[in-house]
Amino acid sequence: MSSTAAVEARPLTAAGRVNLLGLDEAGLQSLLAELGEKPFRSKQLRQWLHQRQVFDLDAMTDLAKGFRATLKTISEQTLPQAIFDRESSDGTRKWLLALESGQAVETVYIPERDRGTLCVSSQVGCALDCGFCSTGKQGFNRNLTAAEIIGQLHYATQALEAEGRGRRVTNVVLMGMGEPLANFRNVVPATNLMVDPYAWGLSRRRVTLSTVGLVPALYRLAEHSHISLAVSLHAPNDPLRDEIVPINRKYPLRELIPACEHYVDNTPHRCIYWEYVMLDGVNDSQKNARELISLLRGVPSKINLIPFNPFPGSAYRCSPRDRILRFAETLQQAGFITTIRRTRGQDIDGACGQLVGQVINRRNRGKQSAEKADS
Ligand code: SAH
Repeated sequence: MSSTAAVEARPLTAAGRVNLLGLDEAGLQSLLAELGEKPFRSKQLRQWLHQRQVFDLDAMTDLAKGFRATLKTISEQTLPQAIFDRESSDGTRKWLLALESGQAVETVYIPERDRGTLCVSSQVGCALDCGFCSTGKQGFNRNLTAAEIIGQLHYATQALEAEGRGRRVTNVVLMGMGEPLANFRNVVPATNLMVDPYAWGLSRRRVTLSTVGLVPALYRLAEHSHISLAVSLHAPNDPLRDEIVPINRKYPLRELIPACEHYVDNTPHRCIYWEYVMLDGVNDSQKNARELISLLRGVPSKINLIPFNPFPGSAYRCSPRDRILRFAETLQQAGFITTIRRTRGQDIDGACGQLVGQVINRRNRGKQSAEKADS
């Protein structure tokens, strides 16, 4: 098959080339097969591109010259570039990264004593419109490519190295802008690269996908990827969840909970991390806590209560601290490991739900609906 055909089957850069950064083991192997090259070149390429972060094909001396020349004609390794870079008083760093198409997404680095977590975006905007999330309020623009998702890890790693303060990424959470399971086709190769020993080599426990719970995609994820799973629950019953997380009308709790149990039963993970945003007077009563206990009884669970981060125009308020503590205590007494998320990076709008990026060209929403349904 000609090299042109090999290029055409994949998402292309503006220059009409393949960005090799977005291809996981299987993706590289199929490209290599089309180019008539041996499959083991895939391992060498992943080591150069991700382990060593070398993009210059001439430097890849263990690859035959002819092969490098072919790659030069069909590929181009580009990273998103920061157009905005801020550090919070608590050390949280946020980058607004420009994409080739003129849009931008946000990536946030959260340092803690024993680890450094990178919060990565999966879409420009989000189609789900959860009432308490500012990203949803921006509308949906497009899915990120796999290269743009893994590119955020490359960019942050390089920027942290340049700081010279010894800070590095030890964990990745797909909790930035967008709904990762609505961009299944690109999120899976990107996360495969994160846990691939010949690429980023992070443990599966240290790469977490956070989803609103698109049920069919959850079953597919158990088949294709074994990363750790966080589910944005936010309500213990359907009427309330229908209101706070509108996709619940399509995938109600009686379908969501079994899909999550199936994930635990069919992957190496021992539990689901449930996220529950604390909204004053909405979902934070003792009755709600008891409902949550019966809903999750028997499901291997860890519960993370998230204090609501307000944003301009938001209709909700955060629950008072003592009510959050009481809610946590009730869950703990029922035997659930429950934590309260410490809000980080609020002064630079880097906290949960404050990521808005720049969603340009929103009039294209209708045109993009096929993509947003890619679950
Ligand atoms: N779409 C995915 C991932 C993005 S949001 C999901 O829904 O899980 C990551 C987490 O931040 C989710 O649990 C989300 O519900 C929460 N979040 C969104 N807006 C928030 C806000 N304003 N305050 C606190 N948490 C918020």
